[in-house]
Amino acid sequence: MARTGFYPGSFDPVTYGHLDIIARSARMVDKLVIGVGVHVGKQALLSAAERISLIETVTKPISEHSGLKISVVSFDDLAVAAAKRAHAQVIIRGLRDATDFDYEVQMAQMNGSLSPDIETVFMAASPATRMIASSLVKQIAKMGGDTSLFLPHEAETALRAAMARR
Ligand code: ADP
Repeated sequence: MARTGFYPGSFDPVTYGHLDIIARSARMVDKLVIGVGVHVGKQALLSAAERISLIETVTKPISEHSGLKISVVSFDDLAVAAAKRAHAQVIIRGLRDATDFDYEVQMAQMNGSLSPDIETVFMAASPATRMIASSLVKQIAKMGGDTSLFLPHEAETALRAAMARR
């Protein structure tokens, strides 16, 4: 049976850290649905449409290289509900540090209570991309720093354009 994973997040913007998780998920699932969370009260710099289009562009080489089928959707409700709509058997999350761990385990357990049929799988961040966080990258960009180590070129361009609009 083809296995489908659901990878939810803010992706504001998508970073090399996210891409590392996406590329490695090809070893676990045949299809990955990436869920861009659009939640009231969580103000994003990039619109949902921009984040989706960016993810579609920068994940193309991963699909071509690994054969992983990737699609991108937005969701404004529970991750487990969005995972169900995507017909996913697993929710995939990345773990960078102990802060991620505490929050993510609690969330996985609550999601597990809500939907026992969907398993959350954690992937430890790779050493080379572990330090990357979208929020910090945005701060670096605001202060004129170089973000090319953290973001694909298309994401840097979109980030700069979004900041110029503000
Ligand atoms: P959220 O608001 O859901 O935390 P993010 O876009 O910040 O959204 O992260 C989405 C997922 O990607 C989370 O599971 C997060 O832990 C993971 N992630 C973010 N950055 C990295 C990274 N550098 N390495 C590995 N996983 C990461």
